[in-house]
Amino acid sequence: MADSNINYKDIEKVNLTIKTTNIKGKEYAEVNQRIRAFRMLYPEGSITTEIISLENGICVMKASVINEKGEVLGTGHAFEKESASFINKTSYIENCETSAVGRALGMCGIGIDMSIASYEEIANAMAQQEAPQKAQKPIKKAQASKKQEFICKNCGQPVTDAEGHSAESIVANTKRQFNMILCMNCAHEVKKYKDSLSKQEEPVAEQNDGLQLPFPIED
Ligand SMILES: [Zn+2]
Repeated sequence: MADSNINYKDIEKVNLTIKTTNIKGKEYAEVNQRIRAFRMLYPEGSITTEIISLENGICVMKASVINEKGEVLGTGHAFEKESASFINKTSYIENCETSAVGRALGMCGIGIDMSIASYEEIANAMAQQEAPQKAQKPIKKAQASKKQEFICKNCGQPVTDAEGHSAESIVANTKRQFNMILCMNCAHEVKKYKDSLSKQEEPVAEQNDGLQLPFPIED
C-alpha cells in the first residue's frame, strides 16, 4: 500500500481491519484504530493538531491529516468544555484533540463504516449528558457549607437575623449568656424565665407562673 496512489479500494481494505467498539448497540471505531489504519496507508504522512481557541475552559481544536507529499487529505474540528464532565476536568484538551483527530481521519474515509464520530467522541458526549447533575453537586454542597445553619435548641427552628442582629451574633450571644444556641424569640423567653427565677426568694422553678421551658437551664 504505502505509496501516494492510494485508491478507494485500499481504504476499504484497511477499514476491514478496524476493530469497533459497541456503544448502546452501535459500533464505533476508536481513534487509535483509525490512526493505525492511516499509518498502514500513509506511513510517511502526518497528523497535525492546533488549538483554534482556548478560553475560559473552552477548547476548540483543528486536526489535519496530511499525506507524504504535504497534501491535506482531511480536517476535523472538536470542541470541549473543561466543566462538561468529570474526565474533562483533567483532560479536556486531550479529549478535544482526540476527537478532532478522529473526525479528520473520518473525513479521509478511515473508519467511517458506521459513523464519522469516533468511539471516543460518542463516549465523551454521553459522559457529558450525565455530567450536569453530578457536576452541580459539589457546588451546592459548597454553598450549603458556606452559610452554616444554626438551630435553636428550644424551638428547633433555624436561627435567623432578627431585631437588627445577624444570626451569627445571636448565636454567639445566646451561647455566651445561656450556654446554648437560641433564636431571638426563645432568647427573650429564656431571659424572662431566668429573671423571674432570680426574683423569687425560694428557688422553686415549678411555681413560676406556669411558664415551662422544654429544656433545662444551665447556669
Ligand atoms: Zn427558638
